[in-house]
Amino acid sequence: MHRRTKIVATLGPATDPLPLAEAGGAEADSEKYDYTAMDQLIDAGVDVVRVNFSHGTYADHKRQIESIRSRAWQRGRQVGVLMDLMGPKIRTCKFKNGQVNLEKDARFTLDTTMGGPDGSIADGTDSAVGITYKDLPKDVKRGDTLLLNDGMIQLRVEETTTTQIHCKVTQAGVLSNNKGINKLGGGLSAKSLTEKDLKDIKFAAELEADYLAISFPRDEHDIHEARKLFQEAGGTGGIVAKIERAEAVASDDILKAIIIASDVVMVARGDLGVEISDAELPAYQKKIIALSRELNRVVITATQMMESMIYNQIPSRAEVFDVANAVLDGTDAVMLSAETATGKYPSLVVEAMDRICRSAEKQPRARKSHHRLDSTFEKADEAIALSTMYAANHLGVAAIAALTESGSTTRWMSRISSGIPIYALTRHIATRRKVTLYRGVYPVSMPPDINENDDVIGEVIDELRRRGSVREGDLVIITKGAKMGTLGGTNTMQIVRIGEE
Ligand code: PGA
Ligand code: MN
Repeated sequence: MHRRTKIVATLGPATDPLPLAEAGGAEADSEKYDYTAMDQLIDAGVDVVRVNFSHGTYADHKRQIESIRSRAWQRGRQVGVLMDLMGPKIRTCKFKNGQVNLEKDARFTLDTTMGGPDGSIADGTDSAVGITYKDLPKDVKRGDTLLLNDGMIQLRVEETTTTQIHCKVTQAGVLSNNKGINKLGGGLSAKSLTEKDLKDIKFAAELEADYLAISFPRDEHDIHEARKLFQEAGGTGGIVAKIERAEAVASDDILKAIIIASDVVMVARGDLGVEISDAELPAYQKKIIALSRELNRVVITATQMMESMIYNQIPSRAEVFDVANAVLDGTDAVMLSAETATGKYPSLVVEAMDRICRSAEKQPRARKSHHRLDSTFEKADEAIALSTMYAANHLGVAAIAALTESGSTTRWMSRISSGIPIYALTRHIATRRKVTLYRGVYPVSMPPDINENDDVIGEVIDELRRRGSVREGDLVIITKGAKMGTLGGTNTMQIVRIGEE
């Protein structure tokens, strides 16, 4: 049985192709790379990779994307690419000695005149360090709490000047270079899209990113703006809204508007947890997942899911429960960050996650559905998609095969919990890559020249047979449009018994 929940893995030094020249030896050749780590990641079952604009150069990103696509293709797999913008993440600059030890009750100053204009000067000491966002002193006031390094260190603001924030250390710890800064409760004025993001959006469009993730959106306008810029640059991928700011969850109306403006929502637990406090996270995760599914949007649960596997070969019991609970909450995908990007065992983490998802999916709760019995449908293809799920769950079919152009029929289908695989049959490579993120949906390639006069149903069944997805006597539901190649044209469902077609 296929795993239904999808796995997103962040690429980084631990998974990147290794130049053979670096490995030395007689084979040394600057054009040759060792792809073992990447191949193992694909074989372990990764569905989507995340390329993070917070780290690495354009050359790194280009190589990562080109190699994952070609390696996946060679292995007969489809892997989607999600490019994640850095956004206005505020960071400290560098220290003279790489790090300092901040003691409780000590005075410490965040100083916009230090660190140089691009944050590259390592002049931080145990009493002051530069910061990347020069307007921060305007955004904070006496009594505010600042959280550094995902809350590991806490500072209380005592006094501000136009360039400095004088603080007292309320939670001690070691602070090293380029660590993130958040304000408890949110309220920083920084715009979601920075100058760097504007350039990165163009680059993501050029590389044909399947998804573009927007960091720290405050409201739906940030999402609309990003989508407009991405499309103007020629981008066709989906837009991911990362929910990681207190403002984004300040009311249900704001949250809903952000979800509706996007294609995919990410429960970005790292930054969200420091802004609204970690104890609030579980309730928000459940709410964001439920709302996203209800509003026909796809949802990713992210950050620290398998954190201990950065160093260990097995997850903690708490991590096993975390992944399983996200599956039961109804997430489409679970995400790995440092676990795969810089961890010791990237493919082992994916294998462990795969195992946990499969077991969680066996629970009846993960397959039970309420079929939106109390809501109305707006479009014919939506009505067909949801009727198909109703019929499939009650009739006991082996598979659903949706002939689709944009994949939207399968997105509606996968909003309904079920144990039945949904095959998205399409001639469009962009659609096959996009559906890699949808729970229970699997991409299948169709010949580009097929048209409605051909025996389409026969072709579909042959393809499912070749893949071993159906056996003689199985029931299958097939959906399609009367006219092939029409967007949103799905208007037919057909129930077929294999061998009797
Ligand atoms: P990041 O986003 O990994 O880009 O910070 C995810 C999160 O904040 O959880
Ligand atoms: Mn984040």
